Amino acid sequence: MTHARGGASGNSRARLAEAVRRRGVTDPGVLGAVGAVPRHLFVPQALAARAYDDAALPIGYGQNISQPSTQARCLEALRLSGSDRVLEIGTGSGYQTALLARLVAQVFSVERVPQLAEQARAAILAAGIANVSQLLGDGTLGWRDYAPYDAIVVAAASPEIPQPLLEQLAPGGRMLLPLGPRDNQVLTLVRLSGGRAVSTPLAGARFVPLLGTFGFDA
Ligand code: SAH
Repeated sequence: MTHARGGASGNSRARLAEAVRRRGVTDPGVLGAVGAVPRHLFVPQALAARAYDDAALPIGYGQNISQPSTQARCLEALRLSGSDRVLEIGTGSGYQTALLARLVAQVFSVERVPQLAEQARAAILAAGIANVSQLLGDGTLGWRDYAPYDAIVVAAASPEIPQPLLEQLAPGGRMLLPLGPRDNQVLTLVRLSGGRAVSTPLAGARFVPLLGTFGFDA
């Protein structure tokens, strides 16, 4: 992808971080990540001029890069620490992957659309990020090889909590996912405490569907 004129400037990123802060995100680490990741590398070239708007944008294959303030809110809710190993389901553009990579030790990201996984790989490389491992496949099955994870973030709407993901969460681990039907969901924080999953609803949301064995039918 070619960079949009002006899109690469620290100014645009700082403005986006400020917009995210105005939407109520206060975590300095998360705001710092939004202020640092070059989002223009993760959106289609034709939309590069809008890369630093706090808006969802189409990334092809019927998928969207989510609104940055929504992604930031999800990351904030997970209370990530620098030593965490995190599983992400739905790499999409790779932008949220890049935010995560600045906040935690290692990111494991699963995507089912080969072309998106490939574009994300190129963008992550271009952004100079080295602590991301990607898998092409059905993320509702998780990624057993590297489990358990301190946190899991699901970037697509799920009718229920996929059982394999619960099994791959470390004791005390946190999972964030949009739960509900295809047309509207509730962003839900799930904490594993004493072997029990405790869910807290956070906010209404509208995500593309999680398609797979423990998600919606493809
Ligand atoms: N966080 C992304 C947005 C992702 S949109 C970003 O910042 O761009 C949701 C993504 O989930 C889409 O790319 C979609 O292809 C993917 N997806 C849907 N079902 C999936 C599944 N079962 N496993 C892995 N990825 C899935």
